Parts: sequence; C-alpha cells; structure tokens
Amino acid sequence: MNIETKKRTFLSLLLVTLVIISSFVYYLWNLTFNQRTFFNQIIFVILVVFFIGIALLAFAGLCGIFLTLFNIPLYPTWQKIVRITVNFLYPFVIQLGKVFKITQDKIQRSFIELNNHLVRIRSIKVEPSELLLLLPHCLQSGNCPYRITSKVENCQKCGKCTISRFIELADRYGIKVKVVTGGTLAREMIKSLRPRAIIAVACERDLSSGILEASPLPVLGISNERPHGPCYNTRADTKTVEEGIKFFLR
Ligand code: SF4
Repeated sequence: MNIETKKRTFLSLLLVTLVIISSFVYYLWNLTFNQRTFFNQIIFVILVVFFIGIALLAFAGLCGIFLTLFNIPLYPTWQKIVRITVNFLYPFVIQLGKVFKITQDKIQRSFIELNNHLVRIRSIKVEPSELLLLLPHCLQSGNCPYRITSKVENCQKCGKCTISRFIELADRYGIKVKVVTGGTLAREMIKSLRPRAIIAVACERDLSSGILEASPLPVLGISNERPHGPCYNTRADTKTVEEGIKFFLR
C-alpha cells in the first residue's frame, strides 16, 4: 500500500517522539531504582507512571493510525485514542521538526492530511443544516467593497473571486456558510451555529490550530492556494470542497 508522503512526515515524527518518550521512561526507571532516598523514589515512580501512560497512549494511537492506513476499521474508543494521541503529541512533533529542520508548513500539511484521513474513516454523516463551510476572508477579492464577514449574503456574486462559487455550492446543498477573519470569529461561529461537522478552508497554520481547537468536532481541512502571497486574493478548489460536502451529507 502506498502511504502518501504528506502523511508520512507527521507519522515519522510521531514515531520518533514515541521513541524519545520511551527512552526517557527507561532512563527514569533506572534512576528510580538507583536512588536510595524514599522521597526521591516516590517522585520518580510518579514520573515513571506518568510517562509510561503517555508512551502507552502514543503506542496505541500509532498502532491505530497504521491499522487505518490498511483500511482496518477501529472501535470508536480506539479512534478516540488515536485522535487524542495526535492532538496531544502535536506540539512535540512541531518541536522535533525544528530539530530536524523540517519546515512548520510541511509538518502542518502532513498533520492536515492525517486529520482528514482520520475524519474520513469515522464515516460521519450529518444533515445539511448541521454542516458548516468556513471560509477565510482572504478568498474575497481585495477590491470588493462588500462586507461579507458579517453577512455572507452581501456578496453580489459578481464572480471576481471564488466566494460566489462557494455560496452557490452551499445553497445547492443547503449547508451553512460563513466567511471569517480569523480564529476568534471562527470560534464564535462554531459556538453560535453548533455544527456537527465542518469543512474549513484556510492556510496550513490556521487549519492546524482550528482542527486542534475544534476537536472532537470533525473538521475536513482544505488548504487555500496563495498565488499573490499570504492573506491576499487567495483561492481554493471548489471541487475538493464539494467532495467534502458530499462525504459528510447523508
Ligand atoms: S464574488 Fe462576491 S465577494 Fe467576490 S468580489 Fe464579487 S461581490 Fe465581492
């Protein structure tokens, strides 16, 4: 089976994290039984138990991920463990990436790819009214005078940017669509609209943090294209978004 390169970056770093944690546990374990004072032993035993817990969680999570790559279904509890592992170890993986000089963008792309894979295997189905399409403000044409973040209906559908196509798509499938300027507004939208699933378009950085924050809510992340640089006149593939909508709808 061909494991995509994108997923492989995050998975490899996750594996190295597990090896580091296990080595640390082993080191603590040795230290515990070489220390003669009672107090030191108590502290070390607590630390050992804590890190063994993390190592076991990471091991179970990694095994789960590998099984899903071979299309082997997981029990919901195990899926939860996989999700917790990935989210919990994400900051460690990012730090480890710095050590190996792997760019944050690359790791985040890999994380989004892995997240989308994990969302897909959950086979979540929702009603159109429970699905939210979250779009970034930078998709809007820089010359557009209409304020669409407060009300997406203000878009005149002139076709100068992809916003009109996404609104048409949302109308066709009867799903909710919102344009947000950043994480704070996105959080507010999620809080007030209470969707059961989200399709989010954004840059890799915003997508990664959004996915982590929204967890356990399933979020399919779609990276935007940035031909004019970050945050200005960006684009996104309508076909990929439509595939995401079809995946979530009953
Ligand atoms: S499609 Fe809508 S958002 Fe885009 S430029 Fe036209 S009116 Fe503005």
